[in-house]
Amino acid sequence: MLRRSALALGVALAVTTAFGAPGAARGQLPIFDAHIHYSRPDWDAYTPERALSILARAGVHRALVSSTPDDGTLELYRRAPKAIVPFLRPYRTSEDRHDGWTRNPQVAAHVEQRLQRGVHRGIGEIHLSVDEAGDPVVRRIAALAAEGGLFVQVHVDQTALERLLTLYPKVRLLWAHAGMSASAETVGRLLDRHPMLWVELALRSDVADGARLDPVWRALFLKHPDRFLVGTDTFTTSRWESVAASVAAVQAWLTDLPRAVAEQIAFKNGDRLFPPP
Ligand SMILES: [Zn+2]
Repeated sequence: MLRRSALALGVALAVTTAFGAPGAARGQLPIFDAHIHYSRPDWDAYTPERALSILARAGVHRALVSSTPDDGTLELYRRAPKAIVPFLRPYRTSEDRHDGWTRNPQVAAHVEQRLQRGVHRGIGEIHLSVDEAGDPVVRRIAALAAEGGLFVQVHVDQTALERLLTLYPKVRLLWAHAGMSASAETVGRLLDRHPMLWVELALRSDVADGARLDPVWRALFLKHPDRFLVGTDTFTTSRWESVAASVAAVQAWLTDLPRAVAEQIAFKNGDRLFPPP
């Protein structure tokens, strides 16, 4: 009982201090948001302080952040090291992403050089097709991740994910958007088979209708409560205006789960996988 109180106190402190502002409203769970970007176009619209305040006011107590280029992520991290979990996006510019990055040795060199800072907790979000899964830069990223105990956040379809899981069995993968269109049955089958796979649910509005979870997704959350995270995805600047609504939508369906499971998915999985420094 004492231990529970201490944990609750710790969480309350994290909520009020991580971003330096009051966090979740009463009765709502703190949220670990596993899919935030703060890329170059965002910098003019939102100062780092403003971006951090949008997250805090939405009830996000910690966030997994990546950006193109990486400087945006490190800028947020410098201001809120306990609240920001920095991931290294390999793309130096938005052109890199669409310009054969999986075979570009300069991208691999960039990744190695940035990782030397020792602050990144993972690599990604990266986008690739099944045909690119064995390409040199992907192989190098997988080796660096395995070596450094880093996660790789992958925005890929089911076929590419299965190829990655087969090629790189030692790498912990965070599947962005649960594959965007993969069914709950597919996600469940992959989680059953692959212990190195975790799943985040950014942009997956099919999970629930308001506060009522889809029954198949709900059963999956109850079966694998330690494998799911939630996320927003600020993939374009205007999405920063939707962070609060996105988190509110998650808060609504979390009420359809037993409290212990809701807490795992809301923030405990994120805090366990990426403990604050
Ligand atoms: Zn994204």
